[in-house]
Amino acid sequence: MRILIIEDDRSIATNLYDFLSARGHSVDAAADGVTGLHLAVTDPFDAIVLDIGLPGMDGLKLCDKLRREAQVETPVLMLTARDTLQDKLHGFDSGADDYLVKPFALKEVEARLNALHKRSIKRVTAKVLVAGELTLDTRTLSIRFSGEEVKLPPKCIRILELLMSEPERVFSRAELEHAVWGDAQETSDTLRSHMHLLRRALVDAGHYDPIETVHGLGYRLLTHARREA
Ligand code: CA
Repeated sequence: MRILIIEDDRSIATNLYDFLSARGHSVDAAADGVTGLHLAVTDPFDAIVLDIGLPGMDGLKLCDKLRREAQVETPVLMLTARDTLQDKLHGFDSGADDYLVKPFALKEVEARLNALHKRSIKRVTAKVLVAGELTLDTRTLSIRFSGEEVKLPPKCIRILELLMSEPERVFSRAELEHAVWGDAQETSDTLRSHMHLLRRALVDAGHYDPIETVHGLGYRLLTHARREA
């Protein structure tokens, strides 16, 4: 990971720097808020360790500027000297992602940074699938068809997500069953009933069925509307 440490306490900064570097991370450091903000905005980091009490500009102000003005979403682990609820709330208010109270174990810092980094990768790779008049946000799982919101149970969402991943392709029943239920050996009735639920919800929203049954083969999602005459 590329990590930025913004901390004015020299011994804490040095400890963090040495530990994280030795663990194979590429580390940069700033000892005041203005320099820290500048680095955070101009260089692409995977995570930021940010002390609250800093000369020039404090950590809360810095984090707020980073999020609101610079629109930088790099995960921030905030460090504070006191474990008070108020500090915690202010920290999250300003856009921090996690929170650690001094004194802390260096291993704990790394573990938290790893967790934040993983979460942010997920967030970045989440995307909105679009097929014809259908959209599916893979992060929020919200679905729209012809502009109408569609509410579906999780298994139906998974089926739709698969069909939308390759519109027009025929997915076999076995393929869908395996992808949605794994090796749980569901009967073909289970897929059929979920498919029925899914199609009914789509018809309710968009007034036509975008899914086609390909007899003897499976199902596919049509991107060009085929309204019944
Ligand atoms: Ca400090």
